[in-house]
Order: sequence, then structure tokens, then C-alpha cells
Amino acid sequence: MGEVPVIYAPIYMDHRAEGYHPENPERVRRVLDAIRPKVIVEPQPVRKEDAFLIHDPDYVDLVEKESRLGYSHLDPDTYVNDRTFEAALYALGGALLAYEVQGFALTRPPGHHSGVAGKALGGPTQGFCIFNNVAFPIKKLGLKRVAIIDFDVHHGNGTQEIFWNEPDVLHIDVHQDPRTLYPGTGFPEDVGGKGAEGTKVNFVLPPGSGDDAYLELLPIIESVLDDFGPEVIAFSAGFDAFEGDGLARIRATESTFYAFGKLARKAKRFYAVLEGGYSVGLSRGARAFYEALSGVEVEYKINQSPSALMTAIRDLIAYERSILRNYWKV
Ligand SMILES: [Zn+2]
Repeated sequence: MGEVPVIYAPIYMDHRAEGYHPENPERVRRVLDAIRPKVIVEPQPVRKEDAFLIHDPDYVDLVEKESRLGYSHLDPDTYVNDRTFEAALYALGGALLAYEVQGFALTRPPGHHSGVAGKALGGPTQGFCIFNNVAFPIKKLGLKRVAIIDFDVHHGNGTQEIFWNEPDVLHIDVHQDPRTLYPGTGFPEDVGGKGAEGTKVNFVLPPGSGDDAYLELLPIIESVLDDFGPEVIAFSAGFDAFEGDGLARIRATESTFYAFGKLARKAKRFYAVLEGGYSVGLSRGARAFYEALSGVEVEYKINQSPSALMTAIRDLIAYERSILRNYWKV
């Protein structure tokens, strides 16, 4: 695939908290330092009205109003400052450009927890997210047969809410067991609304899972993709499942993120937007993902799950597969 462009706007750095916050501009710098892209392209902001394609106008107005007033919190997790609204419009523009150039957008603020009206599916907060970046190109361009692959360690509840009733958008989300992690949504039994059943695929992994758990899942994901036949693959690329990243307890390493990146080849086009990732995942996980997108061949070691846990993981995956068999050749 060659050099994959990175999409970056300086304003992504201007959305920042007063005092320490895990979702901070340093995150983007870490990714840039790790992947050292040869091609960086700068997006344009979208118009405010464009955000109405994915969010209620009242919610967009709220973000604008709060941002114009200066630093505050939309909820205990999610801050805005005087640059947030504009940065969020540039983040949507970054996602759009990522689709156009088949690139990786280092979007801030992130997006996958942001639903139609902000908080999604009963999640307690918006989890640092403002507008749902990964959803935007799909709605703006009316993309057909899109597969969203969300490998952030948290469930992409905002994305699931936005596309719940849309059979043409396959959303595969792999995350830590929601009984043990924010936002507490995304169970295997959640398969999509009427007429869209089977197009929302939730894989949950218990705390402690390593790369071998993901390697058991990946052939199933590939089978679903092959059966669906996507035109476009959209990645919600979060790196917080990396071992020791900080906010969760999954123990993925490079091999997992590399394997996800390789899934880009399952469609004619792809795009990727940055979601979570707070420390080591942003350097080592993002680099492995980017290598795979770029077609660089690398072999990485596999971090093993504890053997007692692996038995439980296999049982869980067998259960998840039994649900998928109602809809897909897996
Ligand atoms: Zn996350």
C-alpha cells in the first residue's frame, strides 16, 4: 500500500484541560514521534451544520455555547475549552480527509463514545469525546457497505447508537468486558435494531487477555468481513488495549494492532481515526498498526494470556460465535 498519509491539524493540540487529564495533546505528539510519517496533510474544518448529520442540533449548539464560554466540563470526564468547538469541526474534517486520501487521522477530540445527543446508550459520560469522527464520512458521503472496526479497549457506544438501525454499516467492536470497564455497554447479545440484526458485532474480552485472545478472534472477524463484503473499512483506532497503557486491563501488544491494521486489505478503501490510547499504546501500538496499513512486513511476539484464563476466553469466543452464526458464515 506504500506510504499512508497522516492527517493532522495544529488545532488538534489546542483542545486541552486545565491541569492533568489523560486525554491531552501530548497523545498526538507521541503517535507522530512513533510513526514518523513521510506525508502529513492538513484538513479543513467542516461547517457546523455538517455536524447535524450525526448529532442533534441541540447537542452541537451546547458544545458550541460551552466552548465559547471557555473552560468547563460537559460531564465529569469530558472537558471543553475555548478551542474545543473549532477543533471538533476540524476533527470531523480530518476524518473526511482520511477517507479521501486513505489515511490515518490523528483526531482530537476523540469521538467513538459520542452518540446522537452526546452520552450514548446509557453510558455515564461522553468519555472525553465530542463529535463522532468515524461516523462522519459515512453520513456525509452516504458511503455504502462500510465495516467499522473499533479496537479501542472501550466499547464504541456512540458509534453503535448512531448506526444501530443501519444494515449497511457493519460495526465490529472488540473491547474489555463491559461489566468491568467504562462505558458498561457492548454485549455480544446486542446485534442491531430491527432490520439491521447481525450488523452490530460485540466481542468482549476479560481483563488479563493477551494477544492470543485476539488471535482467536481475528479469523472470526475475517469471516464476517468476507461474508459482508465491505467496500470501505473504517477504523476507530484506539490503543488503550495495549498492556500497561493505563485505563484498562487488557494485555495486547504490537502483534494485535498489526493484525488489525492488516484487515484494511479486506476492502478497496480504508480510513482510520484516532480514538483512545494514553501512554505506551500510542507509541508501540500505533506504530505496529501504521506499519500494517503501510504494508511493512514485521513479525511480532505474542503476549500469552494466563492458561486458566485462556480456557475461559475460548468458551466466551465459542458463545460469541454461536450468536454470530445466526447471521454470518463463521
Ligand atoms: Zn478507549
